Amino acid sequence: MPEKACKLCRRIVKGNICPACKTTELSKNWKGILVVVDPESEIAKVAGIAAPGRYAVKVK
Ligand SMILES: [Zn+2]
Repeated sequence: MPEKACKLCRRIVKGNICPACKTTELSKNWKGILVVVDPESEIAKVAGIAAPGRYAVKVK
């Protein structure tokens, strides 16, 4: 199954539900992977990401 990205938080999700948002609003149409190890880092702050994980750069 191809990985999908959550339309709300952009987290890359395996399966049909986002573990963070508990939403099924997932998109197969996403681009780029942003890996956040430290949510306190500048890149995570700029991207608006508050939890470690893998995120899509763009979700349509
Ligand atoms: Zn989400």
